[in-house]
Amino acid sequence: MSDILAGQAVRISEHVVRVLAPNPSVFTGPGTNSYLLGRPGGDLLVLDPGPADEAHIAALLDAAQVMGGTIRDIVCTHTHEDHSPGAAPLAARTGARLIGNPAPADGFNDLSFCPDLVPADGSVIACGDVRLRVIATPGHVSNHLCFLLEGENLLFTGDHIMQGSTVVIVPPEGSMREYLASMEKLSALPIAAIAPGHGTIMHDPQHVIAATTRHRLARESKTLRALRDMQRATLDDLLPRVYDDVPPFMHAIAKLSLHAHLIKLVEDGTITEPLPGTWQA
Ligand SMILES: [Zn+2]
Repeated sequence: MSDILAGQAVRISEHVVRVLAPNPSVFTGPGTNSYLLGRPGGDLLVLDPGPADEAHIAALLDAAQVMGGTIRDIVCTHTHEDHSPGAAPLAARTGARLIGNPAPADGFNDLSFCPDLVPADGSVIACGDVRLRVIATPGHVSNHLCFLLEGENLLFTGDHIMQGSTVVIVPPEGSMREYLASMEKLSALPIAAIAPGHGTIMHDPQHVIAATTRHRLARESKTLRALRDMQRATLDDLLPRVYDDVPPFMHAIAKLSLHAHLIKLVEDGTITEPLPGTWQA
């Protein structure tokens, strides 16, 4: 991915072109992937327009022009700041329809995203030759959707599965329990490859889904073991033990996912939270 420049259109498959947004960071890896779907000369769909960055929106419009197509639909996997703020300005330039779930008002989501269509789980979005099956995948955030491109069986995972890093789960809109249930749902689908919101195409989808699930369950077991040793503990007590394999500069982020693990263990009835912010095994 390092040799791919932001703004450069890269053909991924017969119906898919990727344009990398210029927003690399610890959360976004090389940046957000925006995808253009459709056949040259036909109607086009933009999946995850990315940040409201003028240069990135210009790059998407240029890529559409090179394809000789017209952007009709703009679809968002979810409404975090690196995925959906480009939707409104791109719609203003193209007249395209906005599709996705509205943003929860938790302070971490892009309230500028106002969808024209809120698609039902399992429904199909049709745009030109493209047929995208909608798969509700709450977990990273409650409004998260994945999309399966019919024919190619390419799964667009947004932030549900990233290439090269672990997804952060921020409660209460993020839920570890829902995240794992969404993984199980994906494991039953005929997926040929994964096109993530960050990073490169993954060609062994069922291995990725199984390995991601195992990684989360291993972290959950480690959380439970640490809490049983300490009997009672806060997030700050648990953090250095449960994430002793993660560099300290990542601990502030890891703390959010640790909280999500503890909430799941309470929901499962495995541990309790006798005082707010104190857990007991
Ligand atoms: Zn996100």
